[in-house]
Amino acid sequence: MTTKIIDGKLIAKKVKDEIKTEVAGLIDNNDSTPHLVAIIVGDDPASQTYVASKEKAARSVGITSSVYKFPTDISEEELLNTIDFINNDDEINGLIVQLPLPEHISVSKVIESIDPEKDVDGFHPINVGKMVIGQPSFISATPAGVLELLKRYKIETEGKHCVVLGRSNIVGSPLSILMSKKSYPGNSTVTVCHSKTKDLSSIIKQADILICAIGSPQFVKADMIKPGAVVIDVGIHRIPADNEKGYKIVGDVDFEDVRRETSYITPVPGGVGPMTIAMLLSNTLLSFKKKHDS
Ligand code: NAP
Repeated sequence: MTTKIIDGKLIAKKVKDEIKTEVAGLIDNNDSTPHLVAIIVGDDPASQTYVASKEKAARSVGITSSVYKFPTDISEEELLNTIDFINNDDEINGLIVQLPLPEHISVSKVIESIDPEKDVDGFHPINVGKMVIGQPSFISATPAGVLELLKRYKIETEGKHCVVLGRSNIVGSPLSILMSKKSYPGNSTVTVCHSKTKDLSSIIKQADILICAIGSPQFVKADMIKPGAVVIDVGIHRIPADNEKGYKIVGDVDFEDVRRETSYITPVPGGVGPMTIAMLLSNTLLSFKKKHDS
């Protein structure tokens, strides 16, 4: 079987190039430029890295980027006041709060305090609700990245059986809803699987499109796959390896084992991962345009 590798790095670059061209056009027209703010609390190294790469990517396309850094012991009230201040700043189009937050701060309170019009992560209940009923909204970046890959590779989704592994609020649930929507990509018949699902292998075997977001390294093997399936791997894990770094990055899918059974597959790294930041920037530009068109 011929397998096509879905090149997320390439598509993410295309998306960013398109954003860069559009932002350059705004500058030529003497408009202001989109502005993305990230809030980070504490010194978790992974969070610092994520925020730094978001900042770098924003600047690379001409989007203004600012980072508000706070110590772990910031009070919830002070954080909420900062969010309120940013909500009221007309020059800011997108606001993201890097998770996780320290235990004394309520994540839901923080997310709900972000102006839904600036919620470019698409986590606010208003944006989630609009997504569910098919109204224009910010779709959170990772699910949006998966849809964009399907679209750019013109993968047929209508009438297909799409199996989504995982039901988290940020990946599995939104993807299961989006894939069932009366739209493209969408119009699929969707099955959602989770830790309580019985006979998981036989359900995976029925998938024309398999989306994996279970957070378990190399969980999906070749003998679970329907020949010719499209496999989208959202998982990211660092596992020990006998190389210079001492580790390698893998997904929820055992890529080398599974690839030969598939028609399309995303690699890890280089598949869904690079799309997440690209779609965050796309949401920031969208927020800017919504404000300036209204
Ligand atoms: P999560 O919140 O841990 O959710 C995992 C989901 O998988 C849960 O619904 C869980 O079921 C289900 N699950 C776990 N083990 C299972 C099993 N053995 N069989 C069936 N279902 C099982 O994870 P997440 O935040 O959605 O992330 C999933 C993966 O994607 C992680 O590897 C994460 O690092 C990666 N990720 C990547 C990006 C990106 O930019 N590419 C973004 C976000 C996440 P229950 O609901 O029953 O517990």
